[in-house]
Amino acid sequence: MENTQSTSQATLDALIIGQGIAGSILAHELLEAGLQVRIIDKPQPRSSSRIAGGLYNPITGRTMVKTWRADELFPHLEDYYRNLEQKLKARFLRDCKIFRPFFTQEEQNEWLAQWDDDRYRHAIERIDTGQMDLNKHLKATLGGLYLKNAGTVETLTLVEAFTRHFINLGIYKEASFDEHAMELTSEGLIYEGVHYRRLIFANGYQAGNSQYFGWLPFRPVSGDILELECEQEPYCIYNRGIFLTPKGDRGTSRCGSTYRHKPLDEQVNDEGVMQIESKLQKLVNFNYKIVNAVAGIRPATYDRKPFLGRHPKHNQLYIFNGLGAKGVSLAPFFATQLKNHLLNKNYLIDSEVNITRCEKKFFNH
Ligand SMILES: Cc1cc2nc3c(=O)[nH]c(=O)nc-3n(C[C@H](O)[C@H](O)[C@H](O)COP(=O)(O)OP(=O)(O)OC[C@H]3O[C@@H](n4cnc5c(N)ncnc54)[C@H](O)[C@@H]3O)c2cc1C
Repeated sequence: MENTQSTSQATLDALIIGQGIAGSILAHELLEAGLQVRIIDKPQPRSSSRIAGGLYNPITGRTMVKTWRADELFPHLEDYYRNLEQKLKARFLRDCKIFRPFFTQEEQNEWLAQWDDDRYRHAIERIDTGQMDLNKHLKATLGGLYLKNAGTVETLTLVEAFTRHFINLGIYKEASFDEHAMELTSEGLIYEGVHYRRLIFANGYQAGNSQYFGWLPFRPVSGDILELECEQEPYCIYNRGIFLTPKGDRGTSRCGSTYRHKPLDEQVNDEGVMQIESKLQKLVNFNYKIVNAVAGIRPATYDRKPFLGRHPKHNQLYIFNGLGAKGVSLAPFFATQLKNHLLNKNYLIDSEVNITRCEKKFFNH
């Protein structure tokens, strides 16, 4: 490890395994709090954070309900990523609206009646009844809803910017972490001759293979995404069954995604591609070219809530994981929560995300 200071004797505060969105943002939070952190990551081109669509959106689903904890997660989310952009000197946030077309007259009527009531005012900016020019590029003759407080984070750009930052700080090592090579001690642990107070698993779905955290009820989900060149560049995110983003810095729009438990792998699935295309054709009126297709595995959990906290037996082992399909909106809030807990044991991790919720049922003592 390229340390900027001698670490052979000193005990460092934390070793983080994995530098996807979870590990990156947690490391950032701990560093900002003045802790001494090291990161080990074996980048894989198809890791979730490298291929994600990167959308954030406070209301989702067919019934358009507020997402879990939206009132806490969303008010500071864009500012958080804007500050990171400044710090990392990179651009990855695009706070653009989402346009969600109506498919039936009935739907349009329902939303006209309810869009500005208390349940939706925070998320719906306005309603279009089919007058906009945009509609000729979309199969949206009935118009649709414009959702605010939504956008995308280019997660690959974010992760790459963080890698450069951590390399500059001399705290990053590109390697595969081997948990059998770690020695647990009464004060913490030793890995490759360096003493740490604690180790934090932020290694995505692969934490499911760990002898320490494999007992947690992960329910990983594969998904495909297409990268497209569109004849008409989307001017905001189009979202109905699938999403299509405006062209990003990498020159393509992203369109996805699918959810599949079997086969659970990072191989693009033909059926998945067909599914995306069939939904896209119901949404847009323009031609497009598929430039690339990618697939990854989301680190999802049995109750769709993150996994945070300390190992039931080993006080020096922690986990920050289970961000599922919502890494962009969950990571800043819960990394901050874990940091606060590490700095002050009296600061409790939310019971909804603390892994203690799974201990009774899943941990084999
Ligand atoms: C198709 C698809 C679409 C998605 N779309 C969105 C979206 O629109 N919006 C959204 O918010 N989220 C989306 N997600 C989810 C999002 O990608 C995840 O929530 C997030 O990336 C999880 O980040 P992570 O850091 O926990 O895991 P990962 O991204 O998997 O990162 C874990 C890192 O740990 C490394 N690692 C693992 N084991 C080891 C080891 N032993 N040693 C060293 N390194 C190791 C891995 O190589 C990787 O770099 C999507 C995911 C997929 C698959």
